[in-house]
Amino acid sequence: MHRCSKCGKGWGGLRTCHCWECCVTFSDVRAFDAHRKGARSGKCRTPESVGLVPNQFGYWNSSDLNFQ
Ligand SMILES: [Zn+2]
Ligand SMILES: [Zn+2]
Repeated sequence: MHRCSKCGKGWGGLRTCHCWECCVTFSDVRAFDAHRKGARSGKCRTPESVGLVPNQFGYWNSSDLNFQ
């Protein structure tokens, strides 16, 4: 279990990624990358705006996108 020093949220799982900017948790690095795509200014996109969906743990998931 990891815990963010900024928001205090904890998360588990080897592939789970927590964004240090927007404090959103993603189920894997592909979902994380999707929300950072085009973020040249350092700002994150919201998970909804890049088509991610929350899984049963509340982690945003890219598995329904055509990345695979
Ligand atoms: Zn972010
Ligand atoms: Zn955080």
